[in-house]
Amino acid sequence: MTTITRFAPSPTGRLHVGNIRTALHNWMLAQKDGGRFMLRIDDTDAERSREEYVDAIREDLAWLGLSPDGEERQSERLGLYEQAFEKLRADGRIYPAYETQQELELKRKIQLGRGLPPIYDRGALALSEAERAEKEAAGAAPHWRFKLDHGEMIAWEDGIRGSQKFDPAQLSDPVIRRADGSWLYMLPSCVDDIHMGVTDVLRGEDHVSNTAVQIQMFTALDAAPPRFAHEALLVGREGKLSKRLGSLGCDTFRERGIEPEALVALLARLGTSQPVEPIAARETLVNTFDLSTFGRAPARFDDAELDRINTAIVHQFDFADVADRLPDGMDAGAWHAIRPNLEKVADAGDWWAIVTGPVSQPDFDDGTRTFLAKAATMLEWSDNPWADLTARLKAATDRKGKSLFLPLRQALTGMDHGPDMSELLPLIGEAEARARLQSAAEG
Ligand code: GLU
Repeated sequence: MTTITRFAPSPTGRLHVGNIRTALHNWMLAQKDGGRFMLRIDDTDAERSREEYVDAIREDLAWLGLSPDGEERQSERLGLYEQAFEKLRADGRIYPAYETQQELELKRKIQLGRGLPPIYDRGALALSEAERAEKEAAGAAPHWRFKLDHGEMIAWEDGIRGSQKFDPAQLSDPVIRRADGSWLYMLPSCVDDIHMGVTDVLRGEDHVSNTAVQIQMFTALDAAPPRFAHEALLVGREGKLSKRLGSLGCDTFRERGIEPEALVALLARLGTSQPVEPIAARETLVNTFDLSTFGRAPARFDDAELDRINTAIVHQFDFADVADRLPDGMDAGAWHAIRPNLEKVADAGDWWAIVTGPVSQPDFDDGTRTFLAKAATMLEWSDNPWADLTARLKAATDRKGKSLFLPLRQALTGMDHGPDMSELLPLIGEAEARARLQSAAEG
C-alpha cells in the first residue's frame, strides 16, 4: 500500500515553526517510502479562516521545498461530512445535546470541586423523548456529540510513543457539530483521512486523546484506522511552550535571512537521537529519517542553533545555488571570495558594494599616508597581486604584521576586517585599487 501522509493546517495564521516541523516530517515520511504527501486545508471554521493564509501556506510550503502531491479543502467537502453524520446518526452513534456553555462550565466546576475528572456526564443521552421534544418546542437547537463505545479499551501501537491505551469511559463524548450546523475538527478529519486514503497520521502529541476518539470514529465508519504517530511538542530554549515560538512564522525566518535548508536541517532531527547537522541535501535527511529515533521529551528549539546551521549552510552554497539572489555583476569568483564572511546570503550585497566602491576610508596619519603612496606605486598586477604587493612593501619599509596589512585593507575596503584580501583585491581590479590607495595617501 502506498504511504499517504497529510499536513492539515487551519488557515488562521502563517505557518509557525511547530507546523513547519509537522509538515516536514509528514513530507519526509512520504518521501522515504516513495509515497504521497497531501495538503489538507482545515477551513471549516469560516469565521477564522482566511484566504490570504491559504495562499501563504502554499507559498511557505513551496519556499520550504515541501511540495504537496495534492490538495483538499474541507470547506469543499461538506457533503461527505453530512453523509458520515447521517450514517452515524442512523447507527445511534450521534446524539443531540442541549446544554449551554454556562451549564457545561458549571458541571465541570462541580466535578473538579469533588476531585472528579471533568468528563461529560451524558446528561443529554438520558433525556426522554418527551423532554427532548419540550426543548425543541422551546426553540433550543441541539449541538451533536459522538457517542463513545465504552465496551473495550482503545489501543494502538504509536509510531513514536509505543503501545497506547485509553479507557473510553474516561473520555467525554466529543461535540462534533455546532447548533448552527458547522463542524468541529474531529469528524471531518476522520472522514477525510478515510477518503484521501491516508495511511499514516503523524502529528503533535496534543492530539493523542483525539486519536483515541478518532479510532472509534474510523471503526464506526467501517474503515480501518491509519497508523498513528505523535511527536513530542516543540518548546523554546528555556523549556517552556513559549508564545514567541508560536508567533515565529515562516515569513519571519525568511526575512531574517534563514535559508529553508537550514530550517529543514534543524527541524528534521530536533528531538531525535540523530545529530542536528548542517545538511543541505534533502536526500540525506530523507534517507536517515526514522520515527524510532524520535524521543518522548519535548524538542527544544533554539534560535542561536538555527543561526549557526544557517551560516554553515550558506558557506556550503555554490554560486549556482544563490546566483539569482546576488547583486548584478557578482560572479562565481566573487561569491567564493565573499562566502566565508557571510552569515546570510543577503549580506553578500554589502561586501560586493565594497568591491565596486566607493568605499569610505578612515583618516590616516602622515606616516601611513606615505606608506600608502608607496603602495600605490608598487602595486603591480599578477596572479596574486596581494601577496606580491605585501612582500614588496615588507622589503621596502619597516612595517610588518598588522601595521603593514591593516592600513592596506582599510584603504582598499574602508573596513578593518573582511574577506581574504588575496581574493578581494583581484575583484577590485588594478586601476580601482591604485586609485583607492592614492586617494587614501592624499587624505
Ligand atoms: N487542523 C488540525 C490542527 O492543526 C489538524 C490536526 C491533524 O493533523 O489531524 O491541529
